[in-house]
Formats: sequence, C-alpha cells, structure tokens
Amino acid sequence: MPISSINPATGEVIATFDSLSQQQLEEKIGRAAETLREYRRTNFSERADKMQRAAEILESEKKSFARTMTLEMGKPINAAVQEAEKCAWVCRYYAESAEKHLADEFVDTNATKSYVHFQPLGVLLAVMPWNFPFWQVFRFAAPALMAGNVGLLKHASNVPQCALAIEEIFRRAGFPEGAFQTLLVGSDVVQSVLEDPRVTAATLTGSEPAGRSVASIAGNQIKKTVLELGGSDPFIVMPSADLKAAVATAVKARTMNNGQSCIAAKRFIVHKLMYNEFENGFVEAMKSLRVGDPLDESTDIGPLATEQILKDLQEQVNVSVAAGAKILTGGKRVQFEGELARGNFYQPTVLADIPKDAPAYRDELFGPVASMFRVSSIDEAIELANATTFGLGSAAWTNDAKESERFIDELDAGSVFINGMVASDPRLPFGGVKHSGYGRELSYFGIREFTNIKTIWIK
Ligand code: NAP
Repeated sequence: MPISSINPATGEVIATFDSLSQQQLEEKIGRAAETLREYRRTNFSERADKMQRAAEILESEKKSFARTMTLEMGKPINAAVQEAEKCAWVCRYYAESAEKHLADEFVDTNATKSYVHFQPLGVLLAVMPWNFPFWQVFRFAAPALMAGNVGLLKHASNVPQCALAIEEIFRRAGFPEGAFQTLLVGSDVVQSVLEDPRVTAATLTGSEPAGRSVASIAGNQIKKTVLELGGSDPFIVMPSADLKAAVATAVKARTMNNGQSCIAAKRFIVHKLMYNEFENGFVEAMKSLRVGDPLDESTDIGPLATEQILKDLQEQVNVSVAAGAKILTGGKRVQFEGELARGNFYQPTVLADIPKDAPAYRDELFGPVASMFRVSSIDEAIELANATTFGLGSAAWTNDAKESERFIDELDAGSVFINGMVASDPRLPFGGVKHSGYGRELSYFGIREFTNIKTIWIK
C-alpha cells in the first residue's frame, strides 16, 4: 500500500511513496545485521564525531527540517524549529556522555577482578509516532547508535518525509549506510520484522494498543522492548500556588503541539478555594489562542495531524457531553475558508462537571481539550490524579513543602514536576508506569536499556 504525506492544514497530498517490497525489506534487515558486525567495534570517539556532525546538520538546517515537520503533521513552525534544536541537543548530549555512561563499573567480590561491562544489544527496531516526528526518533537513535547498536525505523505512516530526512541526516553525518535505515512500511509489517532472528529488540512510542501488540510479539520471541505509550497527565493546583503562573503554564501544557503530546497536561485538578479563579483565567486564555496556519509564526494552534484524529476527538467530546459534561469553551471543529478549508482544525476546548463514565474523565484526549475537576483536599486530588490506567507524567502546583512531598511520594507516574509543566530533557530519565509503558529513555538509563549488561568475573 502506498504511504502518503498529506498536509493536515489543507488536505493536500504532498508526496506518495511505495511501501518497501518484501525483497527490499529483506535487503535492509540484511544490511543492518552486516553493518552491526563492524559498527559495534568502533570506539566512542569515532561514533561521537559522527553524532556531533548530525547535531551540526540539524542545527544548520533546522528551518528546512521544521518546514517538513509542519507540512506533514501540522505543528506550529516555531515549535518545529525548537524540535530540530532539541534533537541537536540530544545528539550532543550522548556524543559527550556515552563513554562515561557505559564505562566499566568495578565491583569488589571474591574475584581478582569483577566488573560490569556494557555491550550493544544488536539490531533495534524503533516503531515511532508522528507527534514529535524528529524528537521521538532522535531520542532513541542518539543513545542507541552511541552504544554501538544499529537501528531500523518504522515511522508513523503519515510522516514518511520526516522518516527519510532523518535517515539522510545520519548518512550525511558519516554513519555507515546500514547503521540507521528507514523502513517505509505499514504497521502490518512490524510483526515479521520483529520475528526476524537478526532483529534483537524493539522500542515503541505510540498508543496503548500498538504497545500491547508489539510487546506480545516481542514477548513471544523473548526479545526486549521499551514502551513509551499514552498518558492522561494530571495538573494539580493547590491554594498556595502562584495562580497566575499556574494558569499560564496550564494553557501551554495542554495546547503545546496542538494538544497532541503524550505528556500534555490533560486533567486539571484544582482546589475548591481557588477553583473559580483558575477556571475563569484558564477559559479566557484558551479562548484567546490563535488557531490557524501552522506555517504562520503567530499561530498558537495548528491542525490536528489527521482527519481521523479530529473525528476521534470530536467523538470523545460528544460522548462526554452526552454523559453530562459541560462545555466551557470550544467543542467544535474550526472551519476556515480558502486554502485551509479542508484542514483538521479544532477549537481550544474546556470541559467541566465531567462524570466518571465519560471519556474525558479517564481516557487520553489527543488534542486541545482540557478536562477540569474541583477537589476539596490534597487526598482527593491525589486519588483523582491516580484514577487512570495511565501513569506517564504529573504536575503539581503548591508552595507548601509538605504537600510537595506527598505529591512526589504518592502520584503514580514516571515523573512529578512541582510548579512546572512536564517536559523531557536529555539529562533526565523519561518514561511511565502502568499502561503508559515500561523502560526509560534519555539520561544514562536510556542508553543502558539497549545494552547487554555483562558481568565479568576473573580469578
Ligand atoms: P499509534 O497509532 O500507536 O502509532 C505509533 C506507531 O505505531 C506508528 O508507527 C504506527 O504505524 C505503529 N503502529 C500502530 N499500530 C500498530 C500495531 N498494531 N503494531 C505495530 N505497530 C503499530 O500512535 P499515534 O497515534 O501515532 O501516536 C499517538 C499516541 O502515542 C498517543 O497515545 C501518545 O500519548 C503516544 N505517545 C507517547 C509518547 C511517550 O513518550 N510515552 C510520546 C509520543 C506519543 P502506522 O502509522 O503505520 O499505523
């Protein structure tokens, strides 16, 4: 089946690619396995030189990469430029730190010498989503390649141009051709690639169903996986919080990337003492956001990445409203005239009075739709925050040290941000608990995920 690049702001088909034939796929896996034999023997400084070069390419051509991202999946152009810059950062971070993260660790035992030695795991399959079409790939590829692995990328089917651009960056940076290859294939081909004995392990960033499928195939093959799945992050605001800063950050945390971020704040849990003030400020700020052409630098929110995503979001809002939720603002598709008439634009939306059985209470809403909840105590806030099957990020706003400690200890999530919004940083581990996945990316945890942690014992 052909793979198409469609501009979500206009509906225009920008480019179409043939999926790989069985023979082309076989050649690419073969090339990866062959490249691994030599590549795993390269030293850190050889790999780091190439990774630094990849960072230079990303930085010097960030505007062009940003345009490719925006045209394929609709993120505002300024955010796309920042994404290219962040990819350069993660390349530099691992170019500079991989050797230290993977240095032998000596341990005193009854041996003359015993230590932990980190070796590459092999050919890694990365199944990636479209929402941060460069960042998700680089945060896997930079540590994986620096650790001596080689990568095969099965990117989301709506971002083939991004996938090809990333392959080209690594090739131009000097990595051997088989070190990082894009597989233009549909998700139906993932099983056969994962079952190939030359493929050692997989990482998937995406939805819960995709994670379940890949994990079960890999489990059956006894192959390691890292899963970065969905989230329904809470954003808790307590009475001691700086309300103005909390409102401004809440809007950003919900609407960044057109509301399509796994770590976007999705459920706003606000103490009753300042609930009304927070709600008023939040709704006003959401109303004032500019929805429009993502190539225009003044746009806050561009289109959702595909028409199906828009339809799914509308359905979640409709079902929530039918169950009793109230719309404070938004709730509908934005219809423009002219070029943007066929774009997937959705109004920034705020829902309140949400009953327990509504999608807005428990599910991930992947778009600019916020769910508001009023609570009477910290106990109630924590209970509600944890009342989801997800456990990716969480944010709590308070200036009370005891409350902070409770949030840090009791929120079931892979991260807790106090007085801030959840964000990834190459220096800190990133990942979730519960149905948000397992394993960690970034920092030294991320680079060790795809290594053979080998025990050496010498008498
Ligand atoms: P998705 O539909 O799960 O797609 C992600 C990737 O998985 C794509 O490459 C897709 O290929 C592939 N895929 C889908 N179903 C599959 C299956 N049954 N077997 C194997 N591969 C399969 O997710 P998405 O809509 O692109 O992304 C949004 C989701 O990703 C949200 O839930 C979001 O929270 C999550 N996400 C999580 C993180 C994190 O770090 N935790 C980061 C970003 C996004 P096709 O495109 O060909 O279908």
